[in-house]
Amino acid sequence: MNKVDPRLASDIAGIRNSISRSDRTDYVTTYTEREFYEGKTTTERVLILRTRGCSWSYHSGCSMCGYWGDTNPDIGKEELEKQVDHFLKDYPQGEVLKIFTSGSFFDPIEIDQGLQFSIIDKVLSGYSHLIVESRPEYIKKVVDRLSKYAGRIQVAIGLESTDPSVLKNSVNKNYDFDDFKECAMLLREHGLSVRAYLLLKPPFLTEKESIDDSIRSAREIARYSDFISVNPMNIQTGTLVERMYKEGNYRPPWLWSVVKVLQSLRDVDVPTVSLVTASGKRRGAHNGHECDRRFSEGIRKYSETLDFRFLDELKCECEDSWKNFLEVEEETGMPMSEVILDD
Ligand SMILES: [Zn+2]
Repeated sequence: MNKVDPRLASDIAGIRNSISRSDRTDYVTTYTEREFYEGKTTTERVLILRTRGCSWSYHSGCSMCGYWGDTNPDIGKEELEKQVDHFLKDYPQGEVLKIFTSGSFFDPIEIDQGLQFSIIDKVLSGYSHLIVESRPEYIKKVVDRLSKYAGRIQVAIGLESTDPSVLKNSVNKNYDFDDFKECAMLLREHGLSVRAYLLLKPPFLTEKESIDDSIRSAREIARYSDFISVNPMNIQTGTLVERMYKEGNYRPPWLWSVVKVLQSLRDVDVPTVSLVTASGKRRGAHNGHECDRRFSEGIRKYSETLDFRFLDELKCECEDSWKNFLEVEEETGMPMSEVILDD
């Protein structure tokens, strides 16, 4: 099956070429975040490495991804080794470490394969668990060697949606649910756990379509996943989604929609959370109302504890505006941009 729509891919590539890239060689950043992991609320350390970037983004890239800006084409093995050593000098140990690149940890062009495993050895001598991200196409080559870290590594895959037409016509992902399933099963056979990311509100979908898409996708991936993170769209610089947003053709999802998706998945027995980037801001999920901060906090607290009370207690008069927004979009069949609410 052809997994790419040529016109969408060419639009994305055109915009991508206009972004200026980083000239730095140190790691991008480190910070901590809390989430419900391995059965409890855990404070996790995040390290974002600066790499040459996602190989897919060199060919085309995804419609919402602006991580290209954090990358540098000249970064090779030596620079990456230095970044990791520098980080471990300051943060040598802890419970959970997430290492993110602006691409795939297991892409051998992005991180030399020998170096992938020396990084894993180094960090797992100080941290109990490691979470890394990768596109499926790189996982088969490393999974045998990963089995010696069984129970200690989780691999996150950004599937975004199980719907092939969303992946092809909205996201330009160039892989699909079958690729995800195959890799997820392989990882689990080797004792590694699987985290799946879903994207709430890919471009060209109405709010209602995107809510339904995330709920359906979460239900379909649950049996292949140990952890599900529903990531609401945030608008990143130099992306197709940013261009649509600036042209008035895209609005990030409402926080109401995030709550709705999570509440609808109450019966799914895989931890399902939502880490909302730019929560309450116009470029992130927002209601556009005075309740934004309260909703952001409620979703964050739920995601740290899986306690649904934090979601169930969220009430606001703007619920009617959200419902009305959904209805108008369904009537016209077209995604709408921002509607200004009274405070
Ligand atoms: Zn409100």
